[in-house]
Amino acid sequence: MMKTGIATVSISGTLEEKIEAIAAAGFSGIEIFEQDFIADDRSPREVAARVREAGLDLMLFQPFRDFEGLPAPLRARAFDRAERKFDLMQELGCDLMLVCSSVHPEAMGGIDRAAQDFAELGERAARRGLRIGYEALAWGRHVNDHRDAWEVVRRADHPSIGLILDSFHTLARRIDPDTIRRIPGDRIFFVQLADAPAIEMDLLYWSRHFRNMPGEGDLDITGFMRAVMATGYAGPISLEIFNDQFRGGPSRTIAGDGYRSLVALMDDVRRAEPEAHVDLPTFPARTTVEGTAFLEFAAQGEDKSALERLLATLGFRRTASHVSKSLTLWTQGKIRIAVNAETTGHAHSAWVARGTTVCDIGLNVSSAAETLARAQALGAESFRQPLGPGQLDIPAIRGLGGSVLHFLDQTSGLADVWSVEFQAQEDDPAPDAGLLHVDHIAQTMSYDEMLSWSLFYTTLFDMHKTPMVDVIDPDGLVRSQALSSPDGRFRITLNGAETHRTLAGGFLAESFGASVQHVAFATGDIFATATTLSTVGFEALPIPSNYYADLAARFDLDVGLLDRMRAANILFDVDEHGAFFQLYSRPFAGGMFFEVLQREGGAYAGYGAPNAPFRIAAQKRLMRPKGIPRIKREIERKKPSDI
Ligand code: MG
Ligand code: MG
Repeated sequence: MMKTGIATVSISGTLEEKIEAIAAAGFSGIEIFEQDFIADDRSPREVAARVREAGLDLMLFQPFRDFEGLPAPLRARAFDRAERKFDLMQELGCDLMLVCSSVHPEAMGGIDRAAQDFAELGERAARRGLRIGYEALAWGRHVNDHRDAWEVVRRADHPSIGLILDSFHTLARRIDPDTIRRIPGDRIFFVQLADAPAIEMDLLYWSRHFRNMPGEGDLDITGFMRAVMATGYAGPISLEIFNDQFRGGPSRTIAGDGYRSLVALMDDVRRAEPEAHVDLPTFPARTTVEGTAFLEFAAQGEDKSALERLLATLGFRRTASHVSKSLTLWTQGKIRIAVNAETTGHAHSAWVARGTTVCDIGLNVSSAAETLARAQALGAESFRQPLGPGQLDIPAIRGLGGSVLHFLDQTSGLADVWSVEFQAQEDDPAPDAGLLHVDHIAQTMSYDEMLSWSLFYTTLFDMHKTPMVDVIDPDGLVRSQALSSPDGRFRITLNGAETHRTLAGGFLAESFGASVQHVAFATGDIFATATTLSTVGFEALPIPSNYYADLAARFDLDVGLLDRMRAANILFDVDEHGAFFQLYSRPFAGGMFFEVLQREGGAYAGYGAPNAPFRIAAQKRLMRPKGIPRIKREIERKKPSDI
């Protein structure tokens, strides 16, 4: 089996917390970072025993710096330092040391000089049954390219001396990873992986603060790893991530993200490089989500009535009730919204914890079983609750932030859930407003959690990431990133709030953590929809006339069109693919809202980001004074009848 590892420096906490989190995530071993070891108060033998007790290998001891190319007497001292570290490694029972290329001001260049130093170090290491791996730092004084490091190793020509590859150092310097294909796989002792966002900055600073998990950044980690595996390399594959957010993040989440990213990456590598041997159990490829099957809200009491009134004014009809649960179904076009007022189970817990919230999302996929299998291979937890009579066992997993995702497909009868579990109900036939399907689901989280969420979706589903955009809230910045299935049938926007004063941040505090803040429904004709909505009592978010004056200045719009937009509080944008119209509901339940939109010709690719500052300002004007709704809801939640 492929050995997976992670450097202790990659995650937060004490060494003990790191060990626990790394073991729980499913890794086979760790790279022990010397700093983490020194900060611990246990002896080397005790630490080693603890690591093994947790089921982990001690794969690598690192880093040993500024070794090669030194003049006398510094050279002799470097060997002495190495011998002291060899003592420690023997106590730890770790047989591989990482030596990174020197940045010492007195280090001299020359491949042969360095090779001689390594030949001698290899001899000393071999006497103790240890091995040395040489890594080219991107900012090394003389060696800063894996091709040069390999040449040093090749000329050292000692079985205890090998190469260590680190994707960051190769890719940050834009060195073609295919040059790795020429290196014999058995001369590579260890492989470290890190991705990073594309930012122009000093290499050392970039590396120490902005590395992230494979798939979270912009480097071609798959290309790098394909080249490594093509050499026949069969050793450990390990993450070495220096990231300020991760250092402050929850250790279990970060370790879980690391494992997920590594397994997804190696699965991509095996699919792209079939001749290479990736020793990993097989699991299904990324799922292409075919659309949103349903959204389930947890809501009770007055909040439930308010939500149902709002749904009715959006043209939804209550078409069915669950056979055994307090669960009603509201439908329009292909949209299904369930409102769950159960007093036990997941929806109830979600309501108690957060108030009105989206507690469950159902997705249409081609195979629910395969989607579940992939999710589990990536470390996701499957979700189950006791089934009542006649209830179908629909595959589900826990997403992030306590959310649940159900997978429905056509093959296993799961799509029949609506006829099997629900009883149709004839209500007053309210007019349909022409809403067709869910266009996107917008989830709000703290900025620090955004990478976890995007990794979750992009490793499980076939989704494109668009570059992050800044949304200006009058009280701060919100970062927004959109993820979309290739044909756009499933879209998620992630909104990362940095302060509680923004609309998104206030919602986050109000809902006690990340969750769905808005849902957008698509219509084929927003003006017809707006006309119908006005007859059923829908109150749109009022947009100030300044906005329309600005639209008139920015775009060459027909006056009649502008007037119709103004009358219906419709916002406008256009990109190279087509025009875009949107309108919003007023906020409800602590800052949630609905959006209605039209992508003219289905072509506009964005989400109306230029309009977001005006929408947010308009919503904030309508929000109740801070503090009141939350206290009120906490009191409501504590009513004995609700428990
Ligand atoms: Mg490294
Ligand atoms: Mg939106």
